[in-house]
Amino acid sequence: MITDFVDLEPPDVREIRVDRVTLAYRSPMVTAHGTISQRDVVVLTLVDGEGRFGRGEAAPMTAFTPETADEAERALRRWADDGAEPTGSPTARAAIDGALLDLAAQAAERPLHDLLAPGSPSVVPVSALVVGATPDEAAAAAASAVALGHRTVKVKVAAGPFEADLARLNAVRDAIGDARLRIDANGGWAIDAAPRHLERLADLEIEFVEEPVSGLDALAVVRAASPIPLAVDESIATPEDLDRAISLASADVVVLKPSAMGGPLATAAAARTASEAGLTVVVTSLLEGSIGIGAAAHLASALGALDPAPGLATAGLLHTDNAPSLLPRHGVLHLD
Ligand SMILES: [Mg+2]
Repeated sequence: MITDFVDLEPPDVREIRVDRVTLAYRSPMVTAHGTISQRDVVVLTLVDGEGRFGRGEAAPMTAFTPETADEAERALRRWADDGAEPTGSPTARAAIDGALLDLAAQAAERPLHDLLAPGSPSVVPVSALVVGATPDEAAAAAASAVALGHRTVKVKVAAGPFEADLARLNAVRDAIGDARLRIDANGGWAIDAAPRHLERLADLEIEFVEEPVSGLDALAVVRAASPIPLAVDESIATPEDLDRAISLASADVVVLKPSAMGGPLATAAAARTASEAGLTVVVTSLLEGSIGIGAAAHLASALGALDPAPGLATAGLLHTDNAPSLLPRHGVLHLD
């Protein structure tokens, strides 16, 4: 079930600032389109008549969003100049709605999640991404995530041979006891091999597997015989993609990234559509700064989308951030 939001008064915006910010990662990040060590995002700041300011983040990422940081910045400057809607830039839309909501929450002197959905929790459990090239390394990283308080760990697979993934996942399962284990293949398995792989993983009690194969049609074929629930993530960039995933029965779970989907309100609409179609919703980050992670965390709480745990434990990957770092403590984010 996805919670409905209360209607908000639009804030009284008196000043708008658009700033380019470079985020640097502690170690190089491997994405679907190569490796990055830093990345430009755009921060939108809205100031009201009382001098309060709300901030939103536009965080484009190749393969997840259609626009570049330059295009997002131009869209935000046009919006600032004449109110032009940022068509073609979902990350600019995310920055605008994020900043408006942040400002509204500050004006109301309430946390955003509570403003959107009164009584929603201020504590958001988050999954931990576990990396490790060998079974021992992966098991040690998973054990330490669980010791820190995470109840869900996520492991990336399909970058190498399946046998190596299987060995790592067996070691992780042994290391984490009854904590949950989810995996993400980023579309990396061939459609004829994926069913065999999923069959061999069936005993590991995997919560879900993200994108075992590439594309909504292929996912639908694989899901029909999968012993493990499937999740769509990068195959869904727009509401139309989501509708298609629902009509094809491509997935059991939908991973929604507010930074890529057009922000908190667009993501809430997608979450409601998915939930009404019987899909489980998981809110995750786009490896953006803590402005964007914060907006996503408040959204996840307000939606009631906290189980499965959101994938929002990514601020620790950043060496330079655009806000006080929103890091988990004991496996949860604290929002108040
Ligand atoms: Mg994913």
